[in-house]
Amino acid sequence: PVVTRFAPSPTGYLHIGGARTALFNWLYARGRGGKFLLRIEDTDRARSTPEATEAILRGLSWLGLDHDGEIVSQFENAPRHAEVARELLALGKAYKCFSTPEEIETFREEARAEGRSTLFRSPWRDADPATHPDAPYAIRIKAPLEGETVIRDRVQGDVTIRNDQLDDMILLRSDGTPVYMLAVVVDDHDMGVTHVIRGDDHLNNAARQMMIYDAMGWDVPVWAHIPLIHGSDGKKLSKRHGALGADEYQKMGYLAAGMRNYLARLGWSHGDDEFFTDAQAQEWFDLDGIRKSPAQFDLKKLENICGQHIAVADDAALRQECEAYLAAAGLAALTPQQGDGLQRAMYCLKERAKTLPELIEKGHFILTSRPVEADEKAANALDTVSRGILKELTPHLQNASWDRETLEAVMNGFAAEKDTKFGKLAGPLRAALAGRAVTPSVFDMMLVLGREETLARLTDAAA
Ligand code: GLU
Repeated sequence: PVVTRFAPSPTGYLHIGGARTALFNWLYARGRGGKFLLRIEDTDRARSTPEATEAILRGLSWLGLDHDGEIVSQFENAPRHAEVARELLALGKAYKCFSTPEEIETFREEARAEGRSTLFRSPWRDADPATHPDAPYAIRIKAPLEGETVIRDRVQGDVTIRNDQLDDMILLRSDGTPVYMLAVVVDDHDMGVTHVIRGDDHLNNAARQMMIYDAMGWDVPVWAHIPLIHGSDGKKLSKRHGALGADEYQKMGYLAAGMRNYLARLGWSHGDDEFFTDAQAQEWFDLDGIRKSPAQFDLKKLENICGQHIAVADDAALRQECEAYLAAAGLAALTPQQGDGLQRAMYCLKERAKTLPELIEKGHFILTSRPVEADEKAANALDTVSRGILKELTPHLQNASWDRETLEAVMNGFAAEKDTKFGKLAGPLRAALAGRAVTPSVFDMMLVLGREETLARLTDAAA
């Protein structure tokens, strides 16, 4: 069975690259009936904060990337990591190194001066334990001295590292704390991780991590190191490119489903398919479809895809999305009545909205109540002449049956009578019904508002 994991370091918010890594792992597991685990890599006590963990969890939850099982804290596993270091010592795959930081520095300086490799070679690697001093020591792995290590990566292909480039890295520091590299391997092994999908900034780590797998005789997971995300100018992604935390996108009102779709396409493709559902993504996602070159973040594309997801979403679900958005953005909640109205209006709002605030703005006519306040543009459309026309129109609507066809016929008839076009009436009608110059179609607003409310608003405006 497939087991993937997302292993963020809690040093900041969930950024776009992290969100995509999480998504790829989630898609891979969900599409294969596997498990998607979450591990917080909080071993760096100075840089890890509970706030960052919270932000990451909130981001994942908003994106709908649910994980299986308990959240693993890497720091809490430290005793287990130390135990493995001692096991490697007992197996003769690691050794006690008594070199002091000063000695190591001297070694490096000399090597530099003599033009040799500065890779530290501990004199304790082959020392007779009988000669060991009674002093603090680090535990170092015995790296292979010859040959090469091949990382069989599903994205990068075979990546070969000469073993003489690998040093006897420390597993356990002299203060008894395990190093990050050991922690990752032990946790991945203990969690049963079968596929490691992560940023290619960790590719070099894979070679060193493989030494530990080999020394312990553990199965190496399938590696998939994915290229980083760049901005549309091809440079490394930064805030300037829209590289914000996941919660910023939530606050901007992007639909999580659209975000998932967009992020999935960031470095992975399935033919020419741009728009797809979660079910399709889970079915289609595969490591073979991941590109080797960096993906480019493109806010326009994100908007476009989110708009498509809004257009096909269920009305009740969209209402919930709007309510969640308002809460996340710290805006006033909808009353139940407003919520019901918005849901009834949804069919005519969702066509061209790219974000939830756009959707809500289009729904202003149903969220507002009498007296409808006109913004500046709308107020301009309500001059004396227009108010007179609205006054004359009102009786024509009094007894009309309230359906689109009849309303259209009444309006067009009235416009002809006034020797004008319906288009000329639209501005004042929008202003009267919504207090806005840009609204859904006048007929849609009338149908959603109903006869009584429509007539009341027209009468208000005409007064
Ligand atoms: N904690 C690492 C990071 O946030 C990920 C390590 C891994 O996936 O192996 O970049």
